[in-house]
Amino acid sequence: MTEYVVAPPAVTVVPVEGEARGFPVRRILCVGRNYAAHRREMGGDDRDPPFFFTKPADAIVPPGGDVTYPQRTANLHYEIELVVALKGGGAEVSTDQALDLVFGYAVGVDLTRRDLQNAAKDKGQPWDASKGFDQSAPISTIRPWSGLAPQGAIRLSVNGMVRQDAVVADMIWNVAEIVSEASRLWRLEPGDLIFTGTPEGVGPLVRGDRVEGEVEGVGVVSFGIV
Ligand code: MN
Repeated sequence: MTEYVVAPPAVTVVPVEGEARGFPVRRILCVGRNYAAHRREMGGDDRDPPFFFTKPADAIVPPGGDVTYPQRTANLHYEIELVVALKGGGAEVSTDQALDLVFGYAVGVDLTRRDLQNAAKDKGQPWDASKGFDQSAPISTIRPWSGLAPQGAIRLSVNGMVRQDAVVADMIWNVAEIVSEASRLWRLEPGDLIFTGTPEGVGPLVRGDRVEGEVEGVGVVSFGIV
């Protein structure tokens, strides 16, 4: 048995609907600008394709957890997203094979320190501090799934007011294309999560807010900002 010089990190676990066993998170890939209307609200060029960034696995906030308003920001934004949970892996996976890698789907929120992100964009600096901070990835229970990916409504409300209201079918890269594209940049493995991008309507959160998000047929994510 291997011994360690410091305590090894805990495995991040997301609960699975109808299942006592959890989903162990290996890493989190995220797609940026995967809905045309959101790309426009972010000032993006209509010709720019989506792209990837990452969050650490321990950024996950499991269902039922609240989010402490993070340090070093005065402009924390919500981004509701469909999340893909992988049971399979591989590199250079074709779009025809991609959905075979999917264990299930969840609903996640890609919390963003927008002021830090805008400053990073201005300076050509990386997004880690604006996207990959502690508690930046609240998520729902994972719903096991096979076959065609979810296509329905994706919504987020803050204190009962609807702020994002779109359909997953409007994604620029669909789920099969996202998994295939990701597998051309990284070798995918079971336990990987992919946040697939947010539709238009992103905006700020403050302490005391209640956030509710849903993807039709997949589930609901709900948390407070404390
Ligand atoms: Mn996002």
